[in-house]
Amino acid sequence: MANSFVKGIVIKQSAYGDGHRILSIFGEGTGIIKAISYGAGKSKSSNAASSQVLCYGTFSLAANGGRLMSVKGADITDSFYPISCDIKKLALVSYLGDITYEILGENNADDNILGLYLNTLYALAYRDADIKKAKAVYELRLMSMGGYMPALDKCVECGSDEVHAFDLLKGGAVCKVCGAGAVKVNKAVVDAIRYITGCDNKRMLSFEASEQMIDYLNKIAQGYVSAQLDKKFKSLDYYNTILLS
Ligand SMILES: [Zn+2]
Repeated sequence: MANSFVKGIVIKQSAYGDGHRILSIFGEGTGIIKAISYGAGKSKSSNAASSQVLCYGTFSLAANGGRLMSVKGADITDSFYPISCDIKKLALVSYLGDITYEILGENNADDNILGLYLNTLYALAYRDADIKKAKAVYELRLMSMGGYMPALDKCVECGSDEVHAFDLLKGGAVCKVCGAGAVKVNKAVVDAIRYITGCDNKRMLSFEASEQMIDYLNKIAQGYVSAQLDKKFKSLDYYNTILLS
């Protein structure tokens, strides 16, 4: 059977059998697909170098009779090497891969989210983007693109124009009366979330914010991801541990 070619990036990999790897490749026009890379766990294998997380290029895949395709070869054009040298950035992209997989699942093409992912890697690797800023922006944009756009114009509970807090579970702004227990937000925070979720991928990190604001956006963004997806991510715990160490 003819090989098929997928332009994409390895967002996760796991060990499989004796010296093999299963890759999650986020591809253009394909979404996230899983493929077996035979022998990739063995250092002498020609597949080893192209089976690492963050390898980006064109993968040649072939059906092998099972549920998963197998990787026949790859033409790698970038591996975002500077990220691999920074344990904090590496921990962050592992988490970003996890939440992206959670939102999209497999075989669900979304080139907008792929663009978001690649732009974020580019900014972290080559523009030395602030890691916390990149994280909050990614979380908020991923959620918005994945169908969880936060509602910010008025209280999602009663419709009041008074915006006092952000309710992570209800997915938007709430007033003082409805907002007991929600995360307080002022106009600057709401404006920042509005900018982040509304601009295009190329402008997404082009805004000024204090460190305090970035920390606050992180708190909201990661809480929002966790509440909406109803899931805790070990890779987030790991990232937070690394960040504080
Ligand atoms: Zn209300």
